[in-house]
Amino acid sequence: MTSFRKRFVTKPIHAWAKGVLPALSETESEALNAGEVWWEAELFSGNPDWSKLHAIKKPTLSPEEQAFFDGPVQDLCDMIDDWKINQETADLPPEVWQFLRDHKFFGMIIPKSHGGLAFSAFAHSEIVRFISTRSVAAAVTVMVPNSLGPGELLHQFGTDDQKDYWLPRLADGRELPAFGLTSAEAGSDAGAMVDDGVICNGQWKGEEVLGIRLNWAKRYITLSPVCTVLGLAFKLRDPDGLIGETQDIGITCALVPTDLDGVETGRRHIPSSTMFMNGPTTGKDVFIPLDHIIGGPEYAGKGWMMLMSALAAGRGISLPSMGCAAIALSAHTTGAYARIRQQFNLPIGKFGGIQSRLGGLAADAYAMDAARHLTCAGLDEGRALSVISAIMKAHATYKMRSAINDAMDVHSGKAVIDGPSNYLLPLYRAVPIGITVEGANIVTRSLIIFGQGSIRAHPHMLDNMLALQEKDPDKSLEMFDKSLWAHVGHTTKTLFRAWGRALTGGRFAPAPDAGKATPIYRQLSRWSAAYALTADFLFLTLGGALKREEMISGRMGDILSEMYILSAALKRWDDEGRQDADLPVLQYAAQNALHNIQSALDSVIANLPARWAAVVLRMLTLPGATTRKPDDRLTVQCSDLLYEPSATRDRITGDLHKGCQRNGVDVLNSCYAKVVEMAPVMKRLRDAGKTPQQALTAGILSDAELSEIHAMQTLVDQVVAVDDYTPDELAALFPAPEPKHPTQEAAE
Ligand SMILES: Cc1cc2nc3c(=O)[nH]c(=O)nc-3n(C[C@H](O)[C@H](O)[C@H](O)COP(=O)(O)OP(=O)(O)OC[C@H]3O[C@@H](n4cnc5c(N)ncnc54)[C@H](O)[C@@H]3O)c2cc1C
Repeated sequence: MTSFRKRFVTKPIHAWAKGVLPALSETESEALNAGEVWWEAELFSGNPDWSKLHAIKKPTLSPEEQAFFDGPVQDLCDMIDDWKINQETADLPPEVWQFLRDHKFFGMIIPKSHGGLAFSAFAHSEIVRFISTRSVAAAVTVMVPNSLGPGELLHQFGTDDQKDYWLPRLADGRELPAFGLTSAEAGSDAGAMVDDGVICNGQWKGEEVLGIRLNWAKRYITLSPVCTVLGLAFKLRDPDGLIGETQDIGITCALVPTDLDGVETGRRHIPSSTMFMNGPTTGKDVFIPLDHIIGGPEYAGKGWMMLMSALAAGRGISLPSMGCAAIALSAHTTGAYARIRQQFNLPIGKFGGIQSRLGGLAADAYAMDAARHLTCAGLDEGRALSVISAIMKAHATYKMRSAINDAMDVHSGKAVIDGPSNYLLPLYRAVPIGITVEGANIVTRSLIIFGQGSIRAHPHMLDNMLALQEKDPDKSLEMFDKSLWAHVGHTTKTLFRAWGRALTGGRFAPAPDAGKATPIYRQLSRWSAAYALTADFLFLTLGGALKREEMISGRMGDILSEMYILSAALKRWDDEGRQDADLPVLQYAAQNALHNIQSALDSVIANLPARWAAVVLRMLTLPGATTRKPDDRLTVQCSDLLYEPSATRDRITGDLHKGCQRNGVDVLNSCYAKVVEMAPVMKRLRDAGKTPQQALTAGILSDAELSEIHAMQTLVDQVVAVDDYTPDELAALFPAPEPKHPTQEAAE
């Protein structure tokens, strides 16, 4: 029976599939194989096992991490003047650089055995998030050495000698790293780089050794102007066959000390007026010995795999933490400002137009931070989460953009006028940085999330592809027979699941007993099945052409991302003890996500080139789909959660009312507390229809209450005020010459 099936059914399909599936380049295979899949694979399966989600341990700080957070992190925040960094000195002050080195901020991911702090992903994320609320320039300075760069690459791939030499020096800041991949020719398409290295003999410390002669011109490189060691990606060639038969060895990563002859660093870019160190770096005929290749000569040509692997961790932490900081700060400050600022004799937070922004802000802050926690939990299990990291990078920074836009709209003129007390503009300026770096969002959304997810997170797709790529024809058919029929079984089950759940509106779809959140789990189970079936229809009808259908792939990536973020929000609600008071934000996040999922699926189907498949798919997945955006009542409930002080507000805004307050936020917090305290008194005045002075005369108000009202008014005036400058002050701000960084001076 099996051999009959193999011969007469599998074989023709095998031949057809080989034709439609384009051969993967080595670079593509390496990118696809880097990292691993986790909870997103359950969502992709069409039938997520919710017990697996609930079994994931909620991340917490160890006592040592907590002490670091309460000590050096808070002290660092107190030392930072973000306005001064961005507008006056164009750099962190020397004492802050020293503080970062002394306390090993650059060695958070380096193991203790090599002198680092060996912090968890969660601690790393908490620290970056907290510093981001104070200063993006400081946060980026801390995040880069701990993300993609020599530290992570050496940790994962370095030889023992390299680790022993470099890691302790990176951990205590004796060496400052940068990572150079991007060049003018090669941005998203790193494979297009022309920076090259040629194997040759050369002089190294007075001896002739085998090594590499490098030439490069990189740009946009963070920390490059001050780095002492550059992790460099280049294309390695061996034209004279000095280390083997391959001439074009491929992308390779090596460590290049920046004091070598021919290296030029020091020039700077100005990234969106956010003055962290960033600039070009060039090298002309720079010679390094072969053992400077990260991982040693056997890792020559494996640079792309190494980069993808290193990105899988860092991309899930750095920018998502900065994004979550911006979302939480937007929610926190906008809720408070909406309560303080009055127009038409009412706090603006009482107007529906403002509430519609606040409601969304509350839900995004809740859900996105939940996704950050879940991702850190996965990374702390030691997993290299490539698809999830891409989801987090793109969506935390997209949501950062919408949160800051909402916050800016609500604050209006107050947010537009620049100055030390404007707590939103620095984050607004940082939005395009977050969206661009570590994989620009459009390419991440359109190609990576579904492109990599569909192959890695699908239960059978990778097996199918591996079978088709197998060179031995008999073995290939054998492997394909197994994977194909497992796939067919999966698709058949998924078809009935998706259809059944669609016809019943998901009412009987699997869900854990999760109290009031149970219906949300059921809906996610419903859409997970619809998603899995749609993915199979896409593979069947588009085959290899799916790679080029970026609009479809982008929407499929969005659905997977929405499911991931919503499932994280469900887990958060569970982990935090199923607080009834937080239910509105969970429900808002759920309705929004489910609506987005439904409309993205509708658009995928509407644009499916195979019309027969579109008709069938619509019938199987979308009957009775009526998911709506959150209604006005729920929106007001969520808005009020940011407007009124409560434990829920503190949870949503991530305790930003405590510590690490940037200029302007501290006075906002004091004013908010005063306005809330005085609310009963102000209501008494409103009910009586009197001004404070009239109320005092009428005996409705005491002297003490009147002076409290004056104190409140003083704070309100401070909050509503914006910065202004005399011509002399302005003149002092702008012609200031660029100060030299200590390491630049030393180099001269
Ligand atoms: C402030 C800053 C710091 C940085 N730090 C570093 C660093 O430390 N080290 C380093 O090596 N690099 C760094 N970069 C570079 C960064 O990673 C790149 O800017 C990024 O990868 C995009 O490259 P690009 O800007 O050349 O855009 P391009 O690649 O030219 O892309 C332009 C647009 O096209 C889109 N696009 C490209 N290809 C596709 C496709 N196939 N499908 C759909 N859309 C596509 C992109 O998403 C983007 O929107 C930094 C950049 C900035 C701005």
